[in-house]
Amino acid sequence: MTMIFTGSEPVKPEAPCLPPSPPLEFARFTLSEENMPELRKDPVIGRWVIISSERGKRPTDYKSEAAPRRNGGFCPFCPGHEDKTPPEVLSYRKDGSAPNTAGWDLRVVPNKFPALQIEGGLNRQGEGIFDRMNGIGAHEVIIETPLHDATLASLGEKDVENVLWSFHDRVLDLKKDRRFKYILLFKNHGEAAGASLEHTHSQLIALPILPKRVREEIDGCKTYFSFKERCIYCDIIKQETDAGVRVIAENWDFIAISPYAPRFPFEMWVLPKNHGASFESAQKHEYENLAKILKDLLVRMDRVLDSPPYNLIVQTSPFHELVADFYHWRIEIMPKLTKVAGFEWGTGFYINPTLPEEAATFMREVVL
Ligand SMILES: [Zn+2]
Ligand SMILES: [Zn+2]
Repeated sequence: MTMIFTGSEPVKPEAPCLPPSPPLEFARFTLSEENMPELRKDPVIGRWVIISSERGKRPTDYKSEAAPRRNGGFCPFCPGHEDKTPPEVLSYRKDGSAPNTAGWDLRVVPNKFPALQIEGGLNRQGEGIFDRMNGIGAHEVIIETPLHDATLASLGEKDVENVLWSFHDRVLDLKKDRRFKYILLFKNHGEAAGASLEHTHSQLIALPILPKRVREEIDGCKTYFSFKERCIYCDIIKQETDAGVRVIAENWDFIAISPYAPRFPFEMWVLPKNHGASFESAQKHEYENLAKILKDLLVRMDRVLDSPPYNLIVQTSPFHELVADFYHWRIEIMPKLTKVAGFEWGTGFYINPTLPEEAATFMREVVL
């Protein structure tokens, strides 16, 4: 029953107190029954999204432009072609082979066509009311395996863990450069998600500024912390664990959920259960368990959504800010199923045609 009070209506003292929030199963039932589009607010950065569940899209309704596997053609990431990339900055080699030769398990090289350049100073300047600085930054490519036809989902857990260790090693190294304020680790899988080469790889970009989105998130975490003296993500983990409806998978160290207000259908977050602000400060057992849950999620996603293109992002704390108490690092995975278009560009607002509770159910219950 819905009760609407106007200013003239007295509040009945005998009216039973409403519970703080309806049971989640009930909420889900009601939504599915009425197919009412819903506005949901991200509790951290305050971004609203439209869950347009009247479109009620199920996994098979998405024509995912399945990441095409092109065969043939020259691949600069394959073993034997080490001279076709800039010299490596890191490699893992069990056989003791020399740098920039074959024999590696994983290789990190500067991007041949970097978005930002490593050499030089920032040279911040004003031009009237405008501000500019040089495009200084690091842009590197992590070649995740020598196997051309592998995907991150098809690699063994140990190989996925290697990728995470390479992220860790590169972040620690780049952190020494005082020009950098933030590092983004990300992966574009499939042409539609922005990958220009099919040989599986991730990338990192170290930036001399803190991106606005990250700043908003830090501010959101800080505001919550100043009221409650608790980390908002730790609270989210607790609430999601208790409710269960948006949980996809979990292990000793990590939980994977569909977030409450996702921008995209089947968006997923992987959060460390133990509070930690930065990815690179995680413990060895955490990388092991992160590799396990990551592989599990990617395999599930390939099964439910027919091997879609996707983006994976590591959201970690900025380099030189004291955020340890209230920031909580995580990985976001966003299959590319919808297109960002006029409405999104005009408003910064997203329309998502799939309820996260239903996305979580599909992901959780798929038979592997
Ligand atoms: Zn290749
Ligand atoms: Zn936390």
